[in-house]
Amino acid sequence: MSLPGDLDSRIAAQLAEVQRAIETARQHAGRTEAVELLAVSKTHSAQVVLAAARAGQIAFGENYVQEGINKILACRAAGAAGLQWHFIGPLQSNKTRVVAEQFDWVESVDRLKIAERLSEQRPAHLPPLQVCVQVNVSGEESKSGCPPEAAAALCAQIAALPNLVLRGLMAIPEPVEGVDAQRAACRPLRTLFDQIKQHGEGAVREMDTVSMGMSHDLAAAIAEGATRVRIGTAIFGLRPAKALP
Ligand SMILES: *Cc1c(COP(=O)(O)O)cnc(C)c1O
Repeated sequence: MSLPGDLDSRIAAQLAEVQRAIETARQHAGRTEAVELLAVSKTHSAQVVLAAARAGQIAFGENYVQEGINKILACRAAGAAGLQWHFIGPLQSNKTRVVAEQFDWVESVDRLKIAERLSEQRPAHLPPLQVCVQVNVSGEESKSGCPPEAAAALCAQIAALPNLVLRGLMAIPEPVEGVDAQRAACRPLRTLFDQIKQHGEGAVREMDTVSMGMSHDLAAAIAEGATRVRIGTAIFGLRPAKALP
């Protein structure tokens, strides 16, 4: 049986390694913007999240509503304060209420109906929910995300909702091999972000987040202008093939 101390040192070492990889990619790309690290903890336990929190990680990403809520509550019950929770999975309209009540960010908003519900259901005592529009940059049928050509209008509509703050765009570029192909897959999101921001009005101009890049394409995403990478495997290790219920 491994001791909690082993877990702490393993997670701290892997977090430090990912931070170094981010910094190296950032310098290599000559980018001056900061790149945030979102630790994607889906399928991993609250104990693992708490170990990462002890190593200084603040922002965590979850894909499944019930699993995420259970983990948020478990971490709070364990006394962990000040963690920031990002919902990054597909969101159905019958699940928006708990997400609006418990998460700090939703990065996977891909239609107005979801945004409207999140805004209505955000409790008044909490700060506004921070949101990104998820864009389907690869055009694959199975992926969630709004079509690129619909993103500007959706951003403008979201910016007008009272209890949301529009922060930017998110995508899951198609998984490909090799840095050149990865960079080509990542490029459209940053290009779209710059266009929408430049031509937008009001709050759309304040967008500051381009969320893309996972364990396999972190360097390519940063080279193409990601301001946040979402990393699971490289921090926490492999996930079981099927997600926990
Ligand atoms: C699982 C997941 C990640 C992290 O993927 P890794 O390959 O484990 O780094 C990032 N973003 C989303 C939307 C995910 O579902």
